[in-house]
Amino acid sequence: MVSQFVKVKCEKCKNEQVIFEKAASQVHCLVCNEVLAIPTGGKSDIKAKILGGVK
Ligand SMILES: [Zn+2]
Repeated sequence: MVSQFVKVKCEKCKNEQVIFEKAASQVHCLVCNEVLAIPTGGKSDIKAKILGGVK
């Protein structure tokens, strides 16, 4: 099973957010605008704490 969405927790404001694992652009926290994931061409480089995959 390949999970495409992951639930992450912003280290800065503790906001929990579901993001796309292979995002093509930077993903920011919706609350504090902290960078949560950086695109690498494949799987994103996720900077936030990963809580788990979302089906
Ligand atoms: Zn945040």
